[in-house]
Amino acid sequence: MTTPTLRNFVGGTFLDAAAATFEKISPVDGSLVAHVAEADRGTIDTAVKAGRAALEGRWGRFTAHERAALLRRIAGRIEERFDDLLAAEIADTGKPRDLARDLDVARAAANFRAFADIIAAEGLDSYLTEMPDGRRALNYALRKPLGVVAVIVPWNLPLLLLTWKVAPAIACGNVVIVKPSEETPSSATVLAEIMAEAGVPDGVFNLVHGFGPNSAGEFLTTHEGIDGITFTGESSTGSTIMRAAAPNVRPVSFELGGKNAALVFADTDVDRAVNGLTRSIFTNTGQVCLCTERVYIERPIFEEVAAGLAERAKALVLGNPWDAATTTGPLISLNHRKKVFSYLERAREQGGTAIAGGGIPDLGDDLAGGAWIEPTLWTGLSHDAPVMREEIFGPVAGLIPFDTEEEAVRLANDTRYGLAASVWTGDLERGHRVAGRMNVGISWVNTWFMRDLRSPFGGSGLSGIGREGGVHSLHFYTEPTNVCVNLSEVEPA
Ligand code: NAD
Repeated sequence: MTTPTLRNFVGGTFLDAAAATFEKISPVDGSLVAHVAEADRGTIDTAVKAGRAALEGRWGRFTAHERAALLRRIAGRIEERFDDLLAAEIADTGKPRDLARDLDVARAAANFRAFADIIAAEGLDSYLTEMPDGRRALNYALRKPLGVVAVIVPWNLPLLLLTWKVAPAIACGNVVIVKPSEETPSSATVLAEIMAEAGVPDGVFNLVHGFGPNSAGEFLTTHEGIDGITFTGESSTGSTIMRAAAPNVRPVSFELGGKNAALVFADTDVDRAVNGLTRSIFTNTGQVCLCTERVYIERPIFEEVAAGLAERAKALVLGNPWDAATTTGPLISLNHRKKVFSYLERAREQGGTAIAGGGIPDLGDDLAGGAWIEPTLWTGLSHDAPVMREEIFGPVAGLIPFDTEEEAVRLANDTRYGLAASVWTGDLERGHRVAGRMNVGISWVNTWFMRDLRSPFGGSGLSGIGREGGVHSLHFYTEPTNVCVNLSEVEPA
């Protein structure tokens, strides 16, 4: 089979392959997945113009109900092309088939359906105003699309995160220029085909491939024709993008990194907690922004929980993503493995004990070129160790005992990140109390990664700016204009 060349999609057509291309390498075995056309400044410029033309044309006159119907057609087409999206996602990431099926591709369709419902139900903010001098007025807020929105997303949940932004942006009447990660160009390319097949007007969905600095990412965020930027990725990249957006004073929405804590109280159902914690540490090889990397366990059950987690970590099955038995895929790249591995070396140097994993597995010759790493758990580290402080973004967590609720809350909140936390307890009052004290965007009690797409999603501190989800997304992707109509017959001199 010849290796495909993935192209940029601008103004409703796939452009001829650009002069520069780069290679996408499989993290499973190091083989070549695709050549990818890298968008240059000219491509970004053409995409901005195509978007602007769409806004000024027929798309600008679509009603909310027409946009909702379009979103439902996109969702339907995603379901029809489920297998193509699944294959693309697995080729790029190596994630196990069931995970890609149930999480990534299923959520892509769900994202479009959810925002179709949300936009169709959207009402008007209005107030009947009474002034001190007796005049009355009707005040209402019209919501208008931002315009041309740049959507920049990472590689960990490529299709899920991309559609999480594209669906509300389009629902609100914007046009988008999306840049997937250079590590995951494939599913976004299939999505561009789906957009055309679903009848999305030309220029409403544009796709550009490339890297960040001095490439498509930078060209996009510094372009003066961009009206808003929505970004998911590393905190340091968010900071760079914020600087890039500053000269044009553009709104940004950032979903960034995390260093998420789990608090396990002695009154918890240990089996249930171990189940949930295993999922929260190792799902997608720890490469979910919401994954737990710090586990604080009340001392009386520390040994029992640690032993349970170690047993579960050792039972995870690494291997070919298409094998039904596989539970855990590789990291995204050899480069990322180098970073994750450096934390394992440092943990060992600082007196940590790996109660599971701790190294690079031998999975045989076929997978020797892949970015594999063992699911790893540490005990014996101090709260100040890098493994407990910095985002690793791999299947690695540190376990630390605590003695009081107050101490657990203090340790969990002692971080510059503020994305997610989970609390494991049999005491409902404690669950509410402690979850509410977490300085994070989402705080779970006795579960992890259960999401209602209407609820606000995002983080504080280094974990982001703003919230998306439900009406929170509508607020980011629109600008309100307050119209004030005097209902009185007089206008004072
Ligand atoms: P990254 O910041 O390296 O890259 C993300 C995207 O930004 C990629 O498309 C990349 O090409 C682009 N980019 C990089 N530098 C850029 C620049 N200077 N200008 C414009 N674009 C640029 O992140 P990653 O390694 O792809 O993803 C992992 C990170 O994403 C982790 O920190 C993880 O926590 C975070 N993440 C957060 C959430 C959330 O919802 N909070 C969800 C998933 C992942």
